[in-house]
Amino acid sequence: MDDIIREEIFPLGAENTAYARYFSGMSYLCPLTHGGVRISNVTFEPGCRNNWHIHHGGGQILLVTAGLGWYQEWGQPARALSPGDVVEIPPEVKHWHGAAADSWFAHLAVEVPSEGGASEWLEPVGDEHYTAL
Ligand code: MN
Repeated sequence: MDDIIREEIFPLGAENTAYARYFSGMSYLCPLTHGGVRISNVTFEPGCRNNWHIHHGGGQILLVTAGLGWYQEWGQPARALSPGDVVEIPPEVKHWHGAAADSWFAHLAVEVPSEGGASEWLEPVGDEHYTAL
């Protein structure tokens, strides 16, 4: 925890209890904006990742700020992420994102505005799949 606090640029926020059922492992969520373009800081403990999910409508942009992590689209190889990386996630694409097994990870999540946009949460990224990365 001390490691990530030193590296974090934006506030850690609170334990991400609202979405905990869609994550494997502990994460923290800090909403940074509340209207217009919604941006949150999301921090993952080592090994933590979110379930496979789909952003309907507007998609999502990730701006990596700390640590090491992964992004993967369904049927594609996983992409390793480090600070400064930008991930443009199109709407309707099944994917997950999260920390590397041995590193904390933080990204800003930018919700691309759209009329009636919503996220659809699917199955967890299994241990066998994750540990094979
Ligand atoms: Mn996403």
